[in-house]
Amino acid sequence: MSEQIRAIGMSSGGLDSLLALALVKQQGIEVLAVHCATGFDSGEIRRGLGWLGENGTAIEDAAAQAAAGAGVPLQVIDVAGRDYNQMLQRPRHGYGKNCNPCIDCHALMLRRCAALMAEGGFHFIFTGDVLGQRPKSQRLHALRLIDREAGLENLVVRPLSARALPPTIPEQRGWIDRGRLLDISGRSRGRQIALARELGFARWVSPAGGCLLTDAHYSTRLRDLIDHAAEPLALGRADYALLLVGRHLRLDARVKFVVGRDARDNAALEKLGRGHWLLEATGHPGPTTLVQGEPGDDDLRRIAAITAGYGKGRAAARVTVQARRGDVQRSLEVTPVDPDNASALRISSRVSEAPARGASEPGRARVGELRVDEDR
Ligand code: SF4
Repeated sequence: MSEQIRAIGMSSGGLDSLLALALVKQQGIEVLAVHCATGFDSGEIRRGLGWLGENGTAIEDAAAQAAAGAGVPLQVIDVAGRDYNQMLQRPRHGYGKNCNPCIDCHALMLRRCAALMAEGGFHFIFTGDVLGQRPKSQRLHALRLIDREAGLENLVVRPLSARALPPTIPEQRGWIDRGRLLDISGRSRGRQIALARELGFARWVSPAGGCLLTDAHYSTRLRDLIDHAAEPLALGRADYALLLVGRHLRLDARVKFVVGRDARDNAALEKLGRGHWLLEATGHPGPTTLVQGEPGDDDLRRIAAITAGYGKGRAAARVTVQARRGDVQRSLEVTPVDPDNASALRISSRVSEAPARGASEPGRARVGELRVDEDR
């Protein structure tokens, strides 16, 4: 009896991943879909903040649906943490247009899959990459570099583009039939959409957002956070989620504050406020402000005055602002400061409310559309 070939399919939850999973499974290969969660999935963070509606789809949901569509099991590997932070802060191969270290990120994910391959006795790994689809991480040179960095040179199969690429060891050994793989290349999605129809995937769901590291405004805030963090390697999900909320202002290298833009932001700041000063004007509706760092008395008063300036009491001569951190409470009488006079403190104008390019409104699942979120 011939040996059962087993493969790991790295899945980002997009259509290309779904098609790659289906093409490999079609060859009688036992497939495990693996999704690597980086902690920068816009949909996942929005869900954590209570912003993703019932029908909202995070990347992980889309990966689950792609695996289900292809009829294979899914394993999610959490790659967030110190190793990912280290890579993010000093990627060997640099960033894309924003804070997206796509080459190093892909290599890190592949390394995690390689460990799983060794533990689980799988024969090879494949991905949904399409040659030339993304300007940086999917050129031939980049694909080779990623494989080499992951210690998987000539071992990673790209079923959608295999016949446009040099044969890999799994193809040479006959673990997978190269003749039944495809030769898609370039940015057009026409062939993938035709193939999806041919394979009976009339509808597929793409994530509501995408990777936040490709968002220009988010990246500006992230860079500021990393540059000023006391322990950048210890940054975690709550720190990264906070970057999506409100207006971000920096008083100095030690103190930064986040002013809510609306009730939704204010609720999120309450949620993320553990261990931080939270400020609110009393007697006038207005924002909640979360303060990071160790503000002195003058710092807190200045932030209170700016908080009051963003609220309905901005025209009042004096406004009372309550500051609280855990059980400690302070009442501050301040003269509101016009937000225009604090604009120099803004870290970035605004995190884009629009999700990654190609997506629909935040919190809405998109059906039958394609996500284009890498290398921008
Ligand atoms: S877009 Fe780039 S940085 Fe973000 S998850 Fe994908 S490979 Fe990683």
